[in-house]
Amino acid sequence: MIDFLVIGGGIAGVSAGARLSHLGHVVLLERETGLGYHASGRSAAMFEETYGLPSTIALNRASKSYHMEANGGVLSPRGLMIVGSEGDDEQFEAELAVMGMEEVGLDGGRALLPILGGATARVGHRPDAWDIDTDRLIQNFASEVRANGGEVRTGHEVSAIARTTHGWEVTTGDEVLSARNIVNAAGAWVDVIAGLAGIVPLGVTPYRRSMARLPAPGGHDVSHWPMVMGLREAWYAKPDAGALLVSPADEDAAEPHDAWADDMVLAEGLARYEAHVTEPVTRLLSNWAGLRTFAPDRNLVLGPDPIDPSFIWSACQGGYGIQTSPAASALIADLVAGRPPELDPEMVARLRPERLR
Ligand SMILES: Cc1cc2nc3c(=O)[nH]c(=O)nc-3n(C[C@H](O)[C@H](O)[C@H](O)COP(=O)(O)OP(=O)(O)OC[C@H]3O[C@@H](n4cnc5c(N)ncnc54)[C@H](O)[C@@H]3O)c2cc1C
Repeated sequence: MIDFLVIGGGIAGVSAGARLSHLGHVVLLERETGLGYHASGRSAAMFEETYGLPSTIALNRASKSYHMEANGGVLSPRGLMIVGSEGDDEQFEAELAVMGMEEVGLDGGRALLPILGGATARVGHRPDAWDIDTDRLIQNFASEVRANGGEVRTGHEVSAIARTTHGWEVTTGDEVLSARNIVNAAGAWVDVIAGLAGIVPLGVTPYRRSMARLPAPGGHDVSHWPMVMGLREAWYAKPDAGALLVSPADEDAAEPHDAWADDMVLAEGLARYEAHVTEPVTRLLSNWAGLRTFAPDRNLVLGPDPIDPSFIWSACQGGYGIQTSPAASALIADLVAGRPPELDPEMVARLRPERLR
């Protein structure tokens, strides 16, 4: 009998599996042949404390020391910048305040990011935003599962789930596994898994977000450039191993699927980026898209289902699943173990599935 059968080998599944492996025997099943194939392997890999709703910010803050310290830490300095155009002062000042940034002016901005220009009139910056080594984070959590006697099985799709008197029977390939608890960490597919288990779905929506990878603009060494965002998150760009990632920051609702970027959405987003820089986009090295899955109220969904507590949600990580994973997974384990969570009770209430029932 498995204590916790985790469905999904993205960050939500491996992090929950790691924490729960201290409470019982964990088996994690991932349909793809590797971990992090979907959203978790396609992110911008940023840690930005002030990004998201208050409950997300609480998780970000509670995750910081783990990201900094555990297993040698997975963060490296990046910094974050916002750029505004003339006539958009009110919006610029509001975002500057929310993000706790300092206004550095165009010259100050160019000292950090030399291609700034075009429509850029105002520049805000804060140094305390970081790149996350996502791959290492996923592997660290997976190693913790194995170190505690658990199993991580890739290439295992869950095709059927049946409730029994003692727990669950879960079919993968021609095997049927018995488990006391199921952890639903299937990303864009969490409502599909709920449907298989006869649990009322949450009504989640996956939204596509795309990414283009460009050669270093103007042949610059981009390695120390900050991440830069347009106002209203209309686009963003950040260095990536000698190249530059540019995202249109699109948010188009989609069915759960292996997402890909739409050419027109990419072209429009690249035009918004180009309006703020001096170097034109001449070619793309590659492009991709991933699904950011949100609950109707946009808070994460963490913990046992109130109707059947042996069905545990690690869901709706939206655009924050990597950075929130240490605290989100710790909260799930606390709720399962009946321990008082470290987070403020009001924030916990905003994250538990009860609020959607
Ligand atoms: C372009 C982009 C930029 C982003 N930037 C950031 C960022 O800077 N910082 C940040 O913190 N977050 C960011 N995110 C968000 C982050 O990537 C997600 O919140 C996170 O990856 C979600 O993780 P997950 O494990 O829930 O989903 P996934 O990584 O999609 O994992 C779910 C897994 O479940 C598996 N699965 C589904 N059904 C089954 C089944 N029946 N049987 C077995 N396995 C199944 C799937 O194969 C999949 O691997 C970004 C996302 C995108 C797309």
